Amino acid sequence: MGKIRFYFALWLSKLSILALRITKHNGTNFPGKLAVKLCPDFLARIGKPELIICVTGTNGKTTCSNMICDAFAVQGKKVICNRYGSNLEAGISSCLLEGAKLSGRTKASIAVLEVDERSAPRIFPHVKPDYIVITNLFRDSIMRNAHPDYIAWILTQNIPDKSKLIVNADDLISSRVAPGNPRVYCGIEKLPTDVTECENLINDMRICPVCGSKLVYDYRRYHHIGKAHCPDCSFKSHDYDYSGHDIDYENMTVKITDKEGTGTYHIPNDSIFNIYNAVMVAALFRELGTPVDELKTMMDKIEVPKSRFNREQIGTMSVTQQLAKEMNALAVTRATDYVRRLPGHKRLFLLISCYTDKRDWSENTCWMYDCDFEMMNDPLIDMCVCTGPRALDFKLRLLYAGVPEEKIHCDIDERRAAREFELKSGDDVYVFCGIDAFDLVDDCRNIIKERCRKIEGIGDDK
Ligand SMILES: [Zn+2]
Repeated sequence: MGKIRFYFALWLSKLSILALRITKHNGTNFPGKLAVKLCPDFLARIGKPELIICVTGTNGKTTCSNMICDAFAVQGKKVICNRYGSNLEAGISSCLLEGAKLSGRTKASIAVLEVDERSAPRIFPHVKPDYIVITNLFRDSIMRNAHPDYIAWILTQNIPDKSKLIVNADDLISSRVAPGNPRVYCGIEKLPTDVTECENLINDMRICPVCGSKLVYDYRRYHHIGKAHCPDCSFKSHDYDYSGHDIDYENMTVKITDKEGTGTYHIPNDSIFNIYNAVMVAALFRELGTPVDELKTMMDKIEVPKSRFNREQIGTMSVTQQLAKEMNALAVTRATDYVRRLPGHKRLFLLISCYTDKRDWSENTCWMYDCDFEMMNDPLIDMCVCTGPRALDFKLRLLYAGVPEEKIHCDIDERRAAREFELKSGDDVYVFCGIDAFDLVDDCRNIIKERCRKIEGIGDDK
């Protein structure tokens, strides 16, 4: 009976892929959703590729998995991935479904799957990854994720015994996940910008998990990322198997040393969290047996997805789209910290917590008070535009952060805000956006770009 139900689900959802393609609706999770609805153990029964790589963690999942797919593409290898789908059960099912023949067996030899941390209990019992890259664990959407230790526990409970982990030794929460599993540790050696005291509002790794003493940080990069040891027992950050060092921002490279030697690799973006992503991706391919020279060529060709960071120059002005996921205090803090350190005066257009649907919905706004909005109180940030359904909450938060009221433009209507905020020649605009409203983001960005072209007297020839 189970078998019949599986084939029924497989064929019907395969048919739905075809129907969606004909009506130009491809790239949704509908087929996977349908498959799981018709056959609840679909994920267990569907054929899987020989090599499965999963990427999980709070931040950097999408960037890392896309980089891994691109790297395989440079090697000329075909992979299936959930790049355009969700990272929940339905998205994973859609991806495996697309890669399956009508017999249920797979056509693909490699799968690269981005897995939502909370979905681990529904995915990992059936999809047994050979490698799992765990980028990091931080406070995230409180309603779904509670505390990072809780997410670490969920992963520990569900990660299959044999999966080899690629972990970040500089993150003492995520690198301790599933302690019985084989793993390699990545990290980035001390940087001139490192500090010893935490300057961020959140620090989720304060005490020794063994004896409870206050941890001493030898250096700290941001939040709990850094190198720490316990003064009262032997607990300390693990040594690196893959050590990133000598970051060259001019030539955009990082050196990575492993037990066989050192390679110099291209980094697709100069923000420290993307350099972590690059080191982890490089470590994965070294574990897969890719020689240093070949990996260099691969890393030269991979980029950060445009939806994450995308800059356009218009005369003396520029418009940059910067991903800053709402409800994720750390993502917004990292984005702000990165942008505030860039040269020149900036205007921030905050499209955070904006949705095309669910306009009336919002989560508890406490995350805004975990997020370092204080960094927006910066002499080089000339204006913060608060917009969307939560505009007033953002304005209040910025006022608490000490941002002078005259630097805040507040308008609930996003497009109107884009048309009306003060803009002049030479301005650099940064559009901070989440991942739920790309149409709205595109609209606002286009309005701002059009205004820039007018100010600069540049025709719309593009
Ligand atoms: Zn201790």
